[in-house]
Amino acid sequence: MGPPGTGKGTQATRLSAAHGLRAISSGDTLRNEIHENTDIGRRARPFVESGGLVPDEVITEVMLAGIDRIPDDAGFLLDGFPRTVPQAEALDAGLTARGRKLDAVLDFQLDDQAIVDRIVSRLVCKKCGRTYNTRFHPPTSPGQCDNCGSELSQRADDSEAVVQTRLKTYREQTAPLIGYYGERGILRGVDASSSADVVEREISAIVRSLGKR
Ligand code: AMP
Repeated sequence: MGPPGTGKGTQATRLSAAHGLRAISSGDTLRNEIHENTDIGRRARPFVESGGLVPDEVITEVMLAGIDRIPDDAGFLLDGFPRTVPQAEALDAGLTARGRKLDAVLDFQLDDQAIVDRIVSRLVCKKCGRTYNTRFHPPTSPGQCDNCGSELSQRADDSEAVVQTRLKTYREQTAPLIGYYGERGILRGVDASSSADVVEREISAIVRSLGKR
């Protein structure tokens, strides 16, 4: 968990490769449903475009279905879910029913100005989902993905106006999860202001300390 633009997606991709974890991103899943114009996509679209949250029951159903596709013996990593206390409660219940549990919750911490600076200059590959930043981590060829060569574009909700709404949504609805997971003793803070390599090393040490990967 962490506000938008703190590097959750970047680290999810790196960690899943380094530790053999299956990563499921709620934002990517919703953008895909919207692109495919599915029933879920049509219900989610207005919330995603305005920077609000998709209703808890919609996203919980989508994410539990994603977890069900992961083999029982594989570790997984959730990026962007849960984002409200009711989602966290539904996730706990869903995992318990499946004989699974969360080992750690990573809380990405970064100040608001740095978040806005990162987000308004963020570019995303439409095909493979890799993210870049025109100021801090530009692609080798402008506008083109280093990984797959496809075109890079700005996410529709990465405008400055929508980012402010997403930050407000985070503070009001998601930040209470810090207390929720803190009480359960599984919350780990991550200083998201460092470079992606440094953050990856910090998180990898946490994953290794769990003694599973
Ligand atoms: P993200 O890519 O994580 O920044 O998510 C983009 C947008 O998808 C958010 O601004 C929300 O509108 C929606 N979204 C992603 N994850 C959730 C979630 N767990 N609960 C509700 N809405 C979500």
